[in-house]
Amino acid sequence: SMPELSTQLVSTWLKDYADVINENTNYLTDLDRQIGDADHGSNMSRGMAAVAALDPTTFPDAPALLKKAGMTLVSTVGGASGPLYGTFFLRLGTSLPAAGQLDAATLAAAMKAGLDGIVARGKASLGDKTLVDCLSSAVDAAQKAANEGKSFAEALAAASKGADEGRDATVDMIARRGRASYLGERSKGHLDPGAASMAMLIDSAARTLA
Ligand code: ADP
Ligand code: MG
Ligand code: MG
Repeated sequence: SMPELSTQLVSTWLKDYADVINENTNYLTDLDRQIGDADHGSNMSRGMAAVAALDPTTFPDAPALLKKAGMTLVSTVGGASGPLYGTFFLRLGTSLPAAGQLDAATLAAAMKAGLDGIVARGKASLGDKTLVDCLSSAVDAAQKAANEGKSFAEALAAASKGADEGRDATVDMIARRGRASYLGERSKGHLDPGAASMAMLIDSAARTLA
């Protein structure tokens, strides 16, 4: 059956993701040490701790909570990832309805809105070795599932698989955006840290929302 969109449902997702980021702070920072400045884990950890502290009962609906989560990330994370993840949650908030049952088409449209926001803000193209490669692959999988008439849960599972594939594809790419681009060819052979944290976000959604 289709879940009902609510502040509690969204809060469960955000808190689960904050836990996942906490457990993976060192892993994400180690990835960023290879091709960046070794702060992606701490950036995401600081931001998601602030998001997890938001009280869902103080928001009128799920979109309001998502918008506040986005603004919280923008204001608490200094690095590139703050405004990009912040934009993602803001766009989810403007795309999703205030209430109603979640289906595959609603999911795909919201994820696409989030992706478009990240691209508008960061100007990354496919293949630039960023979190866009992960999210774009997840969006493609969600849209395909929606077009095939799959359920919300099936579309989320497909999106999670797509996210993992998009994340793994960043290993062989040469970075063209963000700090890793300073390394040029030497960025090849390393997983992009933002793609890793984005795959964790979609995986968290698949475990908590469906
Ligand atoms: P900073 O690079 O400022 O230290 P983080 O380490 O927190 O910030 O985040 C780095 C991640 O941000 C990268 O691994 C990449 O996925 C993502 N990123 C950086 N710049 C862009 C961009 N212009 N568009 C999309 N993603 C980007
Ligand atoms: Mg960094
Ligand atoms: Mg930094």
